[in-house]
Amino acid sequence: MEKHINTKCLYGNQKNKHNDPTGAISTPIYQTATFAHPAVGQSTGYDYSRVQNPTREQLEHIMTALENGNDTVAFSSGMAAIQACMELFEPGDHILSSDDLYGGSVRLFDHINRKNGLEIDYIDTSDLLNIEKSIKSNTKAIYIETPTNPMMQVTDLRAVAKICKKYQLLLIVDNTFLTPYYQNPISLGADIVLHSGTKFLGGHNDTLAGFLVTANEQLSERIRFVVKTIGTGLAPFDSWLILRGIKTLALRMECQQKNALVIVDWLTKHPKVKEVYYVGLPSHPGYHTNLNQATGFGSMISFRVDQKETAVALLEQVKLIQYAESLGGVESLITYPMLQTHADLPKEKQEEKGITDTLLRFSVGIEHVDDLIADLAQALEIQ
Ligand SMILES: *Cc1c(COP(=O)(O)O)cnc(C)c1O
Repeated sequence: MEKHINTKCLYGNQKNKHNDPTGAISTPIYQTATFAHPAVGQSTGYDYSRVQNPTREQLEHIMTALENGNDTVAFSSGMAAIQACMELFEPGDHILSSDDLYGGSVRLFDHINRKNGLEIDYIDTSDLLNIEKSIKSNTKAIYIETPTNPMMQVTDLRAVAKICKKYQLLLIVDNTFLTPYYQNPISLGADIVLHSGTKFLGGHNDTLAGFLVTANEQLSERIRFVVKTIGTGLAPFDSWLILRGIKTLALRMECQQKNALVIVDWLTKHPKVKEVYYVGLPSHPGYHTNLNQATGFGSMISFRVDQKETAVALLEQVKLIQYAESLGGVESLITYPMLQTHADLPKEKQEEKGITDTLLRFSVGIEHVDDLIADLAQALEIQ
């Protein structure tokens, strides 16, 4: 019987359960660079930790089970995972991407991948006609975030997967915001799912990691060749930290979403809050599409306040919530996309997307929700 996701967070699929001879419940940290060979021409299955290490392998097994994939490779960061994914393409290849992306992905595409000959166009992928219109003879992939960062736009993954099949394109989905707990893009037709494991999967704001989950053997082999060659696989200790984090993924996701729903309700009623962007709000334009492909809304909220002074005061006056980049961890963090995550976007692009000096992004943690609201209330009062 297929296990429930809460169970898979601990064991993955049973057949992949790690098999330590000591009976250790926690996967050991195999802190070794290399492995001795039993005889000439033989291997224990491990040769050198750039290629594979048992701690990393266990983490990869868990992620494959959670995302219903064929295989997973764990990388040293989300960006390392995205860069490894881009190594699948050749100079002259064209990629269509969502136009509201994590700022670091845009920086990678525009400054590294373009230099290496890739063509990237940014479009509103929540508009399906727009996607088909933008496909060119050299288009090789569609790259999607849903919901997007920070504007929470939702793209219909099943519909885009259909377009990708028709034109023989790879569908790549950054599933960092909803995680496999709420959304499984491979089950909806994606070929590659990527994650910043730094966020909800690790969950404790204590280490960086990234994942590429592949839907088939052929893609898996190509990605394994890339990680072996460029050497950006996740280290044993960091693999262990993320393994430990994932054990409580289900509990954290439920708690954080519950908190987020209460906070969204409170924010929408606050006189200084002008707009709230959250996929769990029935008035959100992507609400139904999201519900049709995901089992939850997550805990990322963007909101617009009445004026810049309010935004700045809020960031400087919060006492419990911390003003920091990143998201998804147990600690609540608030950030200013215009100056932080999306600072590298050209000003016109920022304006066009609504990433202005009144927009804040809030990653809701596991604190008691009353304490979070009290903190927001006192910070919004000052000024
Ligand atoms: C943080 C993030 C990344 C990059 O991951 P790192 O672990 O910081 O390298 C990519 N995509 C999304 C949606 C992110 O939030």
